[in-house]
Amino acid sequence: MTAKPLVAVTGASSGIGEATARSFSAAGHPVLLMARRIERLEAMRLPNSVCRQVDVRDRAVLAAAVRDAEAKFGPVDMMFANAGVARLGDIGKQDPADWDEMIAININGVMNSVHAVMSGMMERRHGTLVMMSSIAGRKVYPDHTVYCGTKYFVHGVAESLREYLSGYDVRVIVISPGIIETEVLDGVRDPVTLANYKANKAAIGGGIGAEHVANLILDAYNLPQNALVQEICITPTRQK
Ligand code: NDP
Repeated sequence: MTAKPLVAVTGASSGIGEATARSFSAAGHPVLLMARRIERLEAMRLPNSVCRQVDVRDRAVLAAAVRDAEAKFGPVDMMFANAGVARLGDIGKQDPADWDEMIAININGVMNSVHAVMSGMMERRHGTLVMMSSIAGRKVYPDHTVYCGTKYFVHGVAESLREYLSGYDVRVIVISPGIIETEVLDGVRDPVTLANYKANKAAIGGGIGAEHVANLILDAYNLPQNALVQEICITPTRQK
């Protein structure tokens, strides 16, 4: 059997990133796991994996992690630029440090992840970039202002990148989930926004399991390289 190519996942220590790393590993791929909580990456004990403590804001550290994993398992054929935070809150009262953090991680972190692998994919004329946006990158919510901005950014860049990279046979897939059951709410510091979010979530019967997003990504990846799922938009059925 031919060895499967290396996939890289940022934000692999919990939630959607962890589930996606597990799905690809179960499908036989070597996986580069990146996040700040290295102990959680190592505790996953995935076979043929490289665990690296990476803050996606640090372009050099991220690129070095990719180089190390590639030296062991060959080129990264899929980068899941997934790491993100949701410092949701009333923008009129919010500490601008929360905006800075979201912009640095959700925007610059995604760009750093793409940058670490894009030129290699173009040279090989093969590869898949999976970029994490959100349903909040498609529609706005009043207490998500800067978060929405970061996710609209990902949509815009992904659409442009898709046009740029199509001639190189590199695929660009945007992920736009609604409410998924993860640790993302731990990052919401504004108690009113958090209470509203939880009430809304309860009213629609809760979020979806992260493994369903992961499995959709695996299915999209497994299509032939000349077939592209441009966007995966998955929400709870009752989410508006
Ligand atoms: P989690 O909080 O469970 O996971 C977030 C992941 O991002 C963690 O692994 C965390 O790892 C990592 N991360 C955060 N900041 C950094 C950083 N600076 N450097 C490296 N890794 C970082 O939430 P989700 O799984 O829900 O979030 C994943 C993505 O999905 C995010 O981009 C989020 O915006 C998006 N999303 C989530 C939705 C949901 O309802 N859950 C809906 C739509 C989009 P560590 O702290 O160890 O570094």
